[in-house]
Amino acid sequence: MQKLTQIKTQLLNMHAEAVLRQLHEFHFVDPVHVCIKNEKYLLMASNNYLGLTHHPAVKAAAAAAIEEYGTGSGGSRLTSGNHPLYGRLEKDIARFKQTEAALIFNSGYMSNIGVISALANTAADVIFSDALNHASIIDGCRLARAKTVIYPHNNMVALAELLKNTPCSGQRFIITDGVFSMDGDIACLEKIVYLAGKYDGFVIVDDAHATGVIGSGGRGSAAYYGLSGRVHLELGTLSKALASEGGFAAGSQLVINYLINKARSFIFSTALSPATLAAASAALQILLTEPYRVERLALKAAAMKDKLRLAGVPLLKSETPIIPILIGAASQAMDFTEKLYAEKLIVSAIRPPTVPVGSSRLRLTMTGAHSAADIDKASAIIIHTAIKMGRVKPFA
Ligand SMILES: *Cc1c(COP(=O)(O)O)cnc(C)c1O
Repeated sequence: MQKLTQIKTQLLNMHAEAVLRQLHEFHFVDPVHVCIKNEKYLLMASNNYLGLTHHPAVKAAAAAAIEEYGTGSGGSRLTSGNHPLYGRLEKDIARFKQTEAALIFNSGYMSNIGVISALANTAADVIFSDALNHASIIDGCRLARAKTVIYPHNNMVALAELLKNTPCSGQRFIITDGVFSMDGDIACLEKIVYLAGKYDGFVIVDDAHATGVIGSGGRGSAAYYGLSGRVHLELGTLSKALASEGGFAAGSQLVINYLINKARSFIFSTALSPATLAAASAALQILLTEPYRVERLALKAAAMKDKLRLAGVPLLKSETPIIPILIGAASQAMDFTEKLYAEKLIVSAIRPPTVPVGSSRLRLTMTGAHSAADIDKASAIIIHTAIKMGRVKPFA
């Protein structure tokens, strides 16, 4: 069959180009260690930023929800799946984000495709989207009826030009990641909000990597810039710092009411399980009552970056716990991570198409649960491997 022959050729080519993806099985033994074939590995590749997946209160909340309510939710939220835990968590998210209302989706991915396609729904609308936005934003733009204009990453001069020169008879949207997942840098929200004011633009910020990570108490990128309430819609996920699964949109009650009626990924999918909601609720309570965890995470990330930078490891500029080490060729990035793996350290190799050809990288993500000893050990292994691979010159 023609299609199957095509598929086979494609996969073989991907393998030859060192960009073929494969699934590897592993399970966590604690927030920073995984077990693979009975061996324990140190992991610097998870989005479990605050290490709350194994917090006793979070686990207990999920277990209690299963005991009390069973497992699956049994239906979509507009039919029989709207468990009371939803209302409570949405109120807490809105209070945390300092917005009128919030709406939970089944994942961050589903929030983006649902929100963008529901709002930017006429051919007269124009979406201005950062070149490094997450794939779920790109897919949301593809589903939207609006025209999409991509602006160069975090380039506010270019965004201003495009806003000025792109004809638009409908609504302008500006959509950006709050923290960019592959580079770890932060969106220029002050400029974006200013430009949105000038051009009557609707600003959507995806804070998947920012919630629980930056801004006062981990409130995200708007809070980081002191712009709470100035962004029209803040999106986020419950699957990273909040140690569970699900996504959310936080904004005005008006927009939330609209999304309940129009966001197809919200309407046509079964609701999250009570245990998933209970775990996210418990994690959010911990974040609210123990905000020092956010500072601790930043300190751990800074310690790791300092060690690597001092040894000459080529880091991209990152202001967050995402630490990209630039390598270049995809095969080299794979080779590097395999060498680290042999030393029982797991980091991600990020390759095309996730990043442009020639900018493959290692991507470390730090969590608040990494100990000083973990940081010493991992940085020593990375520096040693970089020297062996000729990427870093040893000190004379
Ligand atoms: C992880 C991520 C998502 C997807 O969130 P999930 O809950 O994993 O589906 C969306 N946007 C950004 C920027 C992300 O980093």
